[in-house]
Amino acid sequence: MKKAKVMIAGAGIGGLTAAACLLKKGFEVRVFEQAQQLGEVGAGIQQSANAVKVLYDLGLRDELERVAVRPDNYEFRRFDTGELMHTIPFAQAHEKAHGAPYYHIHRADIHRILADAVHALAPDAITLGARATGYSESESGVKLYLSGGATAQGDLLIGADGIKSAIRSQIVGETPAIYTGYVAWRLTVPRSRLPADIMEKVGTVWCGPKNHAVVYWLCSGQVLNFVGIPERAQWEEESWTQRRPWEELKADYAGWHPKVQSIIDSADRNECYRWALNNRRPIFNWSTQRATLLGDAAHPTLPFLAQGAVMAIEDAAVLARCLEGSATVPDAVDLYQRNRMVRTARIVEQSTEHGGLYHIVDAEEMKRTFAARNPAKERSEWLYNYDPLTVPLLHGAEYEAQT
Ligand SMILES: Cc1cc2nc3c(=O)[nH]c(=O)nc-3n(C[C@H](O)[C@H](O)[C@H](O)COP(=O)(O)OP(=O)(O)OC[C@H]3O[C@@H](n4cnc5c(N)ncnc54)[C@H](O)[C@@H]3O)c2cc1C
Repeated sequence: MKKAKVMIAGAGIGGLTAAACLLKKGFEVRVFEQAQQLGEVGAGIQQSANAVKVLYDLGLRDELERVAVRPDNYEFRRFDTGELMHTIPFAQAHEKAHGAPYYHIHRADIHRILADAVHALAPDAITLGARATGYSESESGVKLYLSGGATAQGDLLIGADGIKSAIRSQIVGETPAIYTGYVAWRLTVPRSRLPADIMEKVGTVWCGPKNHAVVYWLCSGQVLNFVGIPERAQWEEESWTQRRPWEELKADYAGWHPKVQSIIDSADRNECYRWALNNRRPIFNWSTQRATLLGDAAHPTLPFLAQGAVMAIEDAAVLARCLEGSATVPDAVDLYQRNRMVRTARIVEQSTEHGGLYHIVDAEEMKRTFAARNPAKERSEWLYNYDPLTVPLLHGAEYEAQT
């Protein structure tokens, strides 16, 4: 196939990774981003080997090493006593087992690194202030409609426009968001404001009754990231940018371990944000002949396995390989979807299930459940071992036989 002209709606982590992977393979790429400025929210994100391999393949190793943190371990602790219930070793163990490190990184850093990579490959690839509203397609191409009346023409459209995707609505129709009963607090605290012994270079999941908090270092260890996930009956707006009173955050963690209190007490009281976590059931057809979805637009995922953006990065690498290796765009889209739908649905479902594991009310039951589950082993076996750069891409009958 001659190199297709690819249009991408959305310059989030998924859209930018797709752009970089495709540009690197010689495709012509245009990215349309609704925001007037490129950027991400002030929070952390975890990246496991299954995504980091793709970032390394894009030549981003040195950039990542400059700003990311490699945690020694992941610890699961009781919310009140601090008792250690389970450890996932991440230092050399993750890299040794899966071929790339596990990173904790600021969202703004990874986003900037990806945007720089795209700009270096094609300085004019990204158009800002361009909101995709829909598309039409024919046998010969696809037309993207932008707000304000502009259009763009290409061979393939990738909807990487996130959880409220306009492209998804057209392909799949409206799929109901189901409020999970969880909200997510986010805040970051500079190391200089925290007690020196607040925590080692680890990630800690503090597990409590109907509530948990995930804490880890960012920005070469200079900033601490806190994500708190209490259960809350009331439905709220699904948005990362809603400020909420610090007092509500403090009340949600009343009675928790002094280290958790210390982080909350050190936070900037005007910079506490809360977002409602909604769930969507996995879907198994997110494409037409010349339009497909990627990342949260295809498979929005709860954060409990820290795999939403990781999957968007996996999608990007696999889609680029499918396009490179197929005779036509519709063949590439079909191959991509077949090879992504089962894995991503499994991650969506297991992420939902893990929320419950961290919130068990009875202390003994929680400890028994952790001991029986061994999340470290489970994740190593299927989640982190996946290599989007080399995983065999299975066609029709081959695929059905293996799944
Ligand atoms: C509390 C929390 C913690 C998380 N932690 C992790 C983690 O540790 N690790 C991990 O891998 N994932 C994590 N995730 C998930 C992760 O944030 C998402 O999966 C990831 O950001 C999805 O990337 P995306 O590029 O698909 O979508 P988005 O990041 O939503 O990007 C979409 C882009 O499209 C743009 N856009 C939207 N609509 C349009 C339009 N109509 N036209 C043009 N542009 C448009 C947006 O402005 C945005 O730039 C977490 C999520 C939450 C809520």
